[in-house]
Parts: sequence; C-alpha cells; structure tokens
Amino acid sequence: MSDCLFCKIRDGEIPGDLVYEGDSVLAFNDINPQAPTHVLIIPREHIATLNDLTPKEEPLVGEMIQRAVTIAREQGYAENGYRIALNCNRDAGQSVFHIHVHLLAGRSMSWPPG
Ligand code: 5GP
Ligand code: ZN
Repeated sequence: MSDCLFCKIRDGEIPGDLVYEGDSVLAFNDINPQAPTHVLIIPREHIATLNDLTPKEEPLVGEMIQRAVTIAREQGYAENGYRIALNCNRDAGQSVFHIHVHLLAGRSMSWPPG
C-alpha cells in the first residue's frame, strides 16, 4: 500500500525507531508514547484491519503477540505486567489502517480503558 504510514516505515521511506526486525514482523517505538514503553508490533504484510484477517494469518498474529511478550520480558516488565491492545475501526479509535499490536508498559493502567 503506497499511502500507508506503516508500510513506509517498513520500507524505510520514513524513519522508524526500530526495536525488532524479523522476516514477518517488525516492532518500533510509538511516536506519541502513552506509557514509558509504547511499542507497536506490525506484520510486514499490509493488512488494514483485524476484520481482514483470515485463518491463514493465525500464525502471523500469534507471532505478533509472542513478539510483544518477548519485548516486554526483555525490557523487564514480565513480573509487574504490561498491556497489549489492538484497535479495530472507528469505535476503538484505530487511526493507522495497517494492523498493529500496542505494547504498553512501565506504569499502572486503569481498567476499563477509555
Ligand atoms: P491506532 O490508534 O491506530 O491503534 O494506533 C496508531 C498508533 O500509531 C498511535 O499510537 C500513534 O501514536 C502511532 N503513530 C502515528 N504516526 C506514527 C509515526 O509516524 N511513527 C510512529 N512510530 N508511530 C506513529
Ligand atoms: Zn501498510
């Protein structure tokens, strides 16, 4: 997708503060962090929303979650905890239409989210 922000970060057309680069998945720091650690984990493949997932992406989604868990552990948050979030479409506030996992950590968080 030529006009997708996260595809441009994937392709190096705009800078991303990369945390992890794998064959199928990338992770980079959020430009507007909502916690001391706020990492976005994306698939290399352009998938606009969670609604576009099919059974063939099950391993990919599993890898995204597993990568978020690994980054949380590496950064020392396994014991205190962290939050993983995925937003879909308007009511959840999705603003970039290339699926991504948010990893938020380093502060106490309220529930339910706003
Ligand atoms: P959403 O609201 O779609 O779930 O999350 C999109 C996230 O992308 C937001 O947390 C926002 O701060 C982040 N974001 C938007 N533009 C950029 C950018 O150019 N670079 C990075 N690293 N993050 C971005
Ligand atoms: Zn994209």
